[in-house]
Amino acid sequence: MGDKNIRRHNVSFIETLCKSALSKSGIYGIDYSLNPYFGCEHSCIYCYVPRMLPSKLKGRAWGSFVEVKINIPKILARELRSLSSGRVLISSITDPYQPIEQQYQLTRKCIELLAKKNFEVVVLTKSTLFTRDLDIIDKERFELGVTVTTLNAYKELEPNSPPPLMRLQALKEASENGFKTFIFLGPLIPGIVDDEIQEILELAYNSNVKYVIIDKLNTKGDVTQAIAKALNRDQMEKLMKAMSNKSWINEIKEKIIRICNKLHIPYDFCF
Ligand code: SF4
Repeated sequence: MGDKNIRRHNVSFIETLCKSALSKSGIYGIDYSLNPYFGCEHSCIYCYVPRMLPSKLKGRAWGSFVEVKINIPKILARELRSLSSGRVLISSITDPYQPIEQQYQLTRKCIELLAKKNFEVVVLTKSTLFTRDLDIIDKERFELGVTVTTLNAYKELEPNSPPPLMRLQALKEASENGFKTFIFLGPLIPGIVDDEIQEILELAYNSNVKYVIIDKLNTKGDVTQAIAKALNRDQMEKLMKAMSNKSWINEIKEKIIRICNKLHIPYDFCF
């Protein structure tokens, strides 16, 4: 245990021991969240986690470290002895299929344990690595979701994530093989998502997803400035223009509802 001195994209990976695996969740419809890692190599600029849990960063930049909870399968197995059912989100504050999962397989081991019990599981990721685990995912009790925030500005805003079209292709293949799938469309980046929303929802339709969940941008802290700094000049001007329009959020919401209704895609807003 300790700093494994593995480095990628200037990310350090630290093996840690956790005391609990399932955390009670306040997210609507979710009983527990499970996060095999703390920190995320995907390093999304808009990520709310470092702004929500600044003390857990211990002075480190978000995206520069990943804590690997190497004992989480053992702890989960122990917790499952006294729990029989519930709905678990994997994950709420990290990406369960970020690249280091290829090596440690903690998400896979936890999924195996949950699949043996009567748990419902919602998997949410920006990676395509979830396809590795389709052999152990229960088609009835599991839902697989990928996050799509932008098609054109992902290199600026999600610098270390797989391209969104690859995520959607992986999801489409899962849908075609009988898995329940969904798209998490969020956070809605003002000015950026506007021109892309039609295409994203058409891709969702073509991927045969069961539904789309949409969330807005949490503008707490320095997130708007961080996004503006990462974007190119044209994108940044669009962001600023939309941010100064007080009715932007209602307008984009109405547009999403219109498109979803036209495409007959069930949708749910988190706001
Ligand atoms: S993938 Fe999710 S947890 Fe990871 S940096 Fe991006 S938004 Fe944050």
